[in-house]
Amino acid sequence: MVVPSPAGPGPTGRRPRRWVPKRVLVTRAAAEHPHAQEIIRRCTEAGVADIELLPGDRLTGLRRETERETYAAAKSTLAVVVAPPSTRKPQPIPPSADWRIDLARGCPAHCQYCYLAGSLSGPPITRVYANLDEVLDGIGSHAGQGTVTSNTVERGHEGTTFELSCYTDPLGIEHVTGSLSEAIRRVGAGAYGSGVQLRFTTKFDDVETLLGLDHQRRTRVRFSVNAEEVARRFDGGTAPMPARLAALRSMAQAGYRVGLTIAPVMPLPGWQVGYGGLLDAVAAAVAGVPDLDLTAEIITHRFTPSSKEVLLGWYPQTRLEMDEDARSQKRSKFGGVKYVYPKAVMAQMRAWFHAELDARLPQARLLYWT
Ligand code: SF4
Repeated sequence: MVVPSPAGPGPTGRRPRRWVPKRVLVTRAAAEHPHAQEIIRRCTEAGVADIELLPGDRLTGLRRETERETYAAAKSTLAVVVAPPSTRKPQPIPPSADWRIDLARGCPAHCQYCYLAGSLSGPPITRVYANLDEVLDGIGSHAGQGTVTSNTVERGHEGTTFELSCYTDPLGIEHVTGSLSEAIRRVGAGAYGSGVQLRFTTKFDDVETLLGLDHQRRTRVRFSVNAEEVARRFDGGTAPMPARLAALRSMAQAGYRVGLTIAPVMPLPGWQVGYGGLLDAVAAAVAGVPDLDLTAEIITHRFTPSSKEVLLGWYPQTRLEMDEDARSQKRSKFGGVKYVYPKAVMAQMRAWFHAELDARLPQARLLYWT
């Protein structure tokens, strides 16, 4: 269920759309953590009537009669669980950051290309971690280490970077979890030293509660943006593009380092006009912001055999092109296959983005294209 926020207008003057889970499940082990109580408080305040304290730690009964019903029930369920040690161990996450830290797994939105499709198994509920202290301890234990930004010539000034959005959209669930603001506050306060930086990417605009945090510019928020037509066709349950750009401006004005995750780039007919319009809209959104620190990360659309299968189960009517014959194969070092656009198409898009970013948005520093 997505309802207008009762918290008042956001940066666009409109109320941000907020996801309110229909059902919240709290495992027995999670309930022992103070952060679980904070999540329960937030969910109650948001109007969730169905909050269930489970007698054990297993989440069961998530399947319904049909695939469709299972998907719908899962996307409206928030589970509060404990992250096991294997999940808490920071993992390298090139080309974005030195390390991945997960505050949650799963996302309530409905993007038809969702990059989580191939990496999360089972019904797509959102699991948020109650043992936040232990999850964030990974920042302290890995500060100063890493090969993507730490001690590199190009990005060493970012310090040791920790990506929070590999398995979730942390802003999309922030109003019912509070995990993101707690992480930003602790890193801002120097709890893990002054050489660490958080980063996360989002398709939401509900930034009001982050604006006043003492972040010390140790967090970079990137807004995941796209050509209007791509977003209109394939994003679901997220903030509209103008709202994301207004939120980008608000965060930049509040002193945060900001960025664009332009993804997934798709060469739909007339794509140059669509992406040109996007870059112009971003330029207008950041005009006049003092001390702007703006990066860009550009990711073309790709799929794997398993993500395609999952996505077609979730969105059987999708018009998203996932035609293996129209793509090139890319093999990972572990032997997995990804389907990317053919070399000539990639080269054309890459050249266009390099030139147009320079021309239309010279303030943006391109971190990578993939
Ligand atoms: S916002 Fe991101 S994580 Fe959530 S459904 Fe869309 S693509 Fe997936």
